[in-house]
Amino acid sequence: MRKFEKSFIMNCPCCSGKLYEDCCKPYHTKEKNTPTAEALMRSRFAAFAIPNGAYLYNTTLPAKRKFHNQAELQEWGEINQWKKLEIVSKPSLNQVEFKAFYIDSDGNEQLHHELSVFQKIGDRWFYVSGEFLNDN
Ligand SMILES: [Zn+2]
Repeated sequence: MRKFEKSFIMNCPCCSGKLYEDCCKPYHTKEKNTPTAEALMRSRFAAFAIPNGAYLYNTTLPAKRKFHNQAELQEWGEINQWKKLEIVSKPSLNQVEFKAFYIDSDGNEQLHHELSVFQKIGDRWFYVSGEFLNDN
């Protein structure tokens, strides 16, 4: 099922409380650039939920793209159900700590806790890498 083609009004999957059109959609359609690392983080979570593997790939820092694969990003988005995003902290302008809650393909609830690093090149933010944090 391609949720991306939904034409009705929906709440943004990034849990901002805004409508998708007024939140992450203009970033996904390249109408606007994300103004902050947090906005990019949110739009990338929404891109897993939709899913939009191309957006995930294209917002990865070009030098880091060799570690990622657009089809795998798309599939990772598709096989999981993306429930909730929580921004935990923003230690600096280019860092965002977040918790992503999802249900995996076996129906198990999962928590992905990460401190992500971003980089701004020109007027565009890119995802550089992330450190996975363990909650146990
Ligand atoms: Zn959003």
